[in-house]
Amino acid sequence: MDCLFCKIAAGDIPSTKVYEDELVLAFRDIAPQAPTHILVIPKAHIASVAEIAPENSAVVAHIFEVIPQIAAGEGLKDGYRVVSNCGDHAGQTVHHLHFHILGGKQLALEMA
Ligand code: 5GP
Ligand code: ZN
Repeated sequence: MDCLFCKIAAGDIPSTKVYEDELVLAFRDIAPQAPTHILVIPKAHIASVAEIAPENSAVVAHIFEVIPQIAAGEGLKDGYRVVSNCGDHAGQTVHHLHFHILGGKQLALEMA
Protein backbone atom coordinates (compact mmCIF):
# COMPACT_ATOMS: atom_id res chain seq x y z
CA MET A 1 0.00 0.00 0.00
CA ASP A 2 1.28 3.45 -0.88
CA CYS A 3 0.92 4.99 2.56
CA LEU A 4 3.53 7.36 3.99
CA PHE A 5 2.94 6.46 7.62
CA CYS A 6 2.90 2.71 6.89
CA LYS A 7 6.35 3.25 5.37
CA ILE A 8 7.48 5.19 8.45
CA ALA A 9 6.06 2.45 10.70
CA ALA A 10 7.98 -0.16 8.68
CA GLY A 11 11.19 1.87 8.90
CA ASP A 12 11.32 2.32 5.11
CA ILE A 13 11.19 6.09 5.58
CA PRO A 14 13.23 7.50 8.46
CA SER A 15 11.65 9.37 11.35
CA THR A 16 12.75 10.81 14.66
CA LYS A 17 11.24 8.23 17.00
CA VAL A 18 10.00 9.27 20.41
CA TYR A 19 8.28 6.03 21.47
CA GLU A 20 7.78 2.60 19.94
CA ASP A 21 6.22 -0.69 20.94
CA GLU A 22 4.71 -3.57 18.99
CA LEU A 23 1.48 -1.68 18.26
CA VAL A 24 2.35 1.99 18.21
CA LEU A 25 4.96 4.43 16.93
CA ALA A 26 5.43 8.05 17.94
CA PHE A 27 7.75 10.38 16.03
CA ARG A 28 8.40 14.09 15.61
CA ASP A 29 6.37 15.97 13.01
CA ILE A 30 8.53 17.07 10.09
CA ALA A 31 6.92 20.55 10.15
CA PRO A 32 6.38 21.29 13.84
CA GLN A 33 3.63 23.77 14.72
CA ALA A 34 4.66 23.99 18.38
CA PRO A 35 7.90 23.45 20.34
CA THR A 36 6.75 19.87 20.91
CA HIS A 37 4.86 18.35 17.96
CA ILE A 38 4.68 14.57 17.94
CA LEU A 39 2.56 12.21 15.85
CA VAL A 40 1.32 8.96 17.39
CA ILE A 41 0.22 6.26 14.96
CA PRO A 42 -0.93 2.66 15.07
CA LYS A 43 1.53 0.48 13.15
CA ALA A 44 -1.41 -1.23 11.46
CA HIS A 45 -3.10 0.88 8.82
CA ILE A 46 -6.31 2.63 9.84
CA ALA A 47 -7.27 5.44 7.45
CA SER A 48 -8.73 7.91 9.93
CA VAL A 49 -10.93 8.33 13.00
CA ALA A 50 -13.85 7.49 10.69
CA GLU A 51 -12.47 3.96 10.33
CA ILE A 52 -12.26 3.21 14.07
CA ALA A 53 -14.56 0.30 14.93
CA PRO A 54 -14.85 -2.42 17.60
CA GLU A 55 -12.46 -4.60 15.57
CA ASN A 56 -9.56 -2.13 15.73
CA SER A 57 -10.26 0.19 18.66
CA ALA A 58 -7.97 -1.59 21.14
CA VAL A 59 -4.96 0.07 19.55
CA VAL A 60 -6.65 3.45 19.93
CA ALA A 61 -7.12 2.83 23.65
CA HIS A 62 -3.47 1.85 23.78
CA ILE A 63 -2.45 5.06 22.00
CA PHE A 64 -4.31 7.05 24.67
CA GLU A 65 -2.47 5.14 27.39
CA VAL A 66 0.86 5.96 25.73
CA ILE A 67 0.15 9.66 25.13
CA PRO A 68 0.45 10.68 28.81
CA GLN A 69 3.77 8.82 29.03
CA ILE A 70 5.08 10.65 25.97
CA ALA A 71 3.84 13.99 27.28
CA ALA A 72 5.52 13.37 30.63
CA GLY A 73 8.73 12.38 28.85
CA GLU A 74 8.62 15.64 26.91
CA GLY A 75 8.11 17.62 30.11
CA LEU A 76 4.70 18.97 29.07
CA LYS A 77 3.70 19.61 32.67
CA ASP A 78 1.66 22.72 31.79
CA GLY A 79 -0.55 20.82 29.37
CA TYR A 80 -0.82 19.88 25.75
CA ARG A 81 -3.34 19.33 22.96
CA VAL A 82 -4.22 16.04 21.25
CA VAL A 83 -5.71 16.45 17.75
CA SER A 84 -6.74 14.10 14.97
CA ASN A 85 -7.81 15.60 11.66
CA CYS A 86 -10.41 13.40 9.99
CA GLY A 87 -11.26 13.93 6.34
CA ASP A 88 -11.20 16.88 3.98
CA HIS A 89 -13.00 19.48 6.08
CA ALA A 90 -10.48 18.91 8.87
CA GLY A 91 -7.57 19.13 6.44
CA GLN A 92 -6.34 15.56 6.87
CA THR A 93 -3.33 15.21 4.56
CA VAL A 94 -1.99 11.77 5.52
CA HIS A 95 -4.65 9.10 5.39
CA HIS A 96 -3.23 6.89 8.12
CA LEU A 97 -4.70 7.52 11.57
CA HIS A 98 -2.50 9.82 13.64
CA PHE A 99 -2.85 11.85 16.77
CA HIS A 100 -0.91 15.10 17.04
CA ILE A 101 0.53 15.96 20.45
CA LEU A 102 1.14 19.71 20.55
CA GLY A 103 2.68 21.54 23.47
CA GLY A 104 5.51 23.55 24.90
CA LYS A 105 3.79 26.91 24.51
CA GLN A 106 0.43 28.54 25.15
CA LEU A 107 -1.66 27.25 22.25
CA ALA A 108 -4.26 29.31 20.41
CA LEU A 109 -7.84 28.65 21.48
CA GLU A 110 -9.35 28.60 18.00
CA MET A 111 -10.58 25.14 17.07
CA ALA A 112 -12.40 25.99 13.82
P1 5GP B 1 -2.63 15.94 9.02
O1 5GP B 1 -2.58 17.21 8.23
O2 5GP B 1 -2.98 14.76 8.15
O3 5GP B 1 -3.45 16.01 10.27
O4 5GP B 1 -1.16 15.71 9.58
C1 5GP B 1 -0.13 15.18 8.84
C2 5GP B 1 1.13 15.61 9.50
O5 5GP B 1 2.19 14.80 9.02
C3 5GP B 1 1.54 17.06 9.21
O6 5GP B 1 1.65 17.77 10.44
C4 5GP B 1 2.88 16.93 8.49
O7 5GP B 1 3.80 17.94 8.85
C5 5GP B 1 3.35 15.56 8.92
N1 5GP B 1 4.20 14.88 7.95
C6 5GP B 1 3.99 14.78 6.62
N2 5GP B 1 4.95 14.04 6.03
C7 5GP B 1 5.81 13.70 7.02
C8 5GP B 1 7.02 12.93 7.04
O8 5GP B 1 7.51 12.43 6.02
N3 5GP B 1 7.63 12.78 8.25
C9 5GP B 1 7.13 13.33 9.39
N4 5GP B 1 7.80 13.12 10.53
N5 5GP B 1 5.97 14.04 9.42
C10 5GP B 1 5.34 14.23 8.24
ZN1 ZN C 1 -0.90 3.42 6.45
